[in-house]
Amino acid sequence: IQSQSQSQAQAPVIRKKLASWVGFSNLPNQVHRRAMRRGFHFVTMVVGESGLGKSTLINTLFETKLYGPKSVPQPGQDRGKTVQIESTSAEIEENGVRLKLTVVDTPGFGDFVNNDESWKPIVDNIEARFDAYLEQENRVNRSKLVDNRVHACIYFIQPTGHALKPIDVEFMRRLHTKVNLIPVIAKSDTLTEEEVVLFKQRILADIAHHGIQIFQPPQYENEDEETIQENEEIISKVPFAVVGSDSLVNSQDGRQVRGRAYPWGTIEVDNEAHCDFVKLRQMLVRTHMEELREHTNEILYENYRTEKLRAMGVMQDETVFKETNPAVKQAEERAMHEAKLAKMEAEMKMVFQQKVQEKEQKLKQSEEELYSRHREMKEALEKQRLELEDKKRRIESGRPLTPEKGTKKRFGIGK
Ligand code: GDP
Repeated sequence: IQSQSQSQAQAPVIRKKLASWVGFSNLPNQVHRRAMRRGFHFVTMVVGESGLGKSTLINTLFETKLYGPKSVPQPGQDRGKTVQIESTSAEIEENGVRLKLTVVDTPGFGDFVNNDESWKPIVDNIEARFDAYLEQENRVNRSKLVDNRVHACIYFIQPTGHALKPIDVEFMRRLHTKVNLIPVIAKSDTLTEEEVVLFKQRILADIAHHGIQIFQPPQYENEDEETIQENEEIISKVPFAVVGSDSLVNSQDGRQVRGRAYPWGTIEVDNEAHCDFVKLRQMLVRTHMEELREHTNEILYENYRTEKLRAMGVMQDETVFKETNPAVKQAEERAMHEAKLAKMEAEMKMVFQQKVQEKEQKLKQSEEELYSRHREMKEALEKQRLELEDKKRRIESGRPLTPEKGTKKRFGIGK
């Protein structure tokens, strides 16, 4: 019997050839059958100004009329005020493999006079999809997780031939940590070959300058030569210069091809010498669809999830800490008590001041009354003094006293 520490240590790997067929070499087939039974779901988002060929490219990529004809908004036409998020799904099947394809369109992006916050509804939508997945993971029963997270975002760059526009940089800067970004040069048939080469160099320089991470096929160890070369070829074409067309035209040599006919010749969508559509499709659909889904799950979603849970965890920890730590609880109670006392003291001071004011008012009033009484008495005394002096003067000068009113009668003077 192995001890616990022994069993936890890595057991030595013994390579042995089996004498007979055990059966586990059939495991890849089991995985294959299960995957076939379940089918696949791939969510791709398309972002770019109206009329850059987003719907046409999706129809061309999956050879399905996922989108009908759209009207390109005319200058002055009311286009609403915000970027819309529209999701369209279709079940497609090829050689018995079922793929549910969801395309998330973002009409309105870059179409307004002020496009400052164009990226916001898109980030919100991507995060809401992460949240919905997180919520499913936290349920008791999580056997049937529905994965509606965005696995790839094809960003359409206007074929100006100059450099990235501020709106392109802003969008990619905001989104690159949340989604697999796949930048493409839209309608590249409107540029010459030399212009495409120069434009790609400038775009890549801008992307590097702003520290933006775009999706590139990863290079794994032990990969076979062919795969390594295929990946290098794909990487050499980034950002893909694409041409979309869902109608057939006559090629130079008279074949019926998907492409766009011009007076000077025909641009073939599926011709690698004409554009990078084939390489984009190869990466997105044929060789790296699973890689895009995995990268979304293991890196982009995982980072989002960690940050979200950490933010929630810190808040939870603080509450628990307060509730369980007696010292913190006591300090909190003391602070509350002190605040209560301070409030009572302030209230008492106010009442006291009010009472003092009232008393002062009353004292002032009685002082004034006293003064006025004093003045009245003084005036009466002064009047008496004047009258007595007048009497005295009359007596001294021998003049009869003028009797005061009523005095004549009393002293018998007059009639
Ligand atoms: P969206 O608004 O971005 O979805 O653009 P649409 O796919 O509706 O295309 C707008 C117009 O551009 C249509 O008339 C398309 O035929 C045309 N268009 C689409 N892709 C290309 C392309 O690669 N090159 C050129 N020259 N025109 C294209």
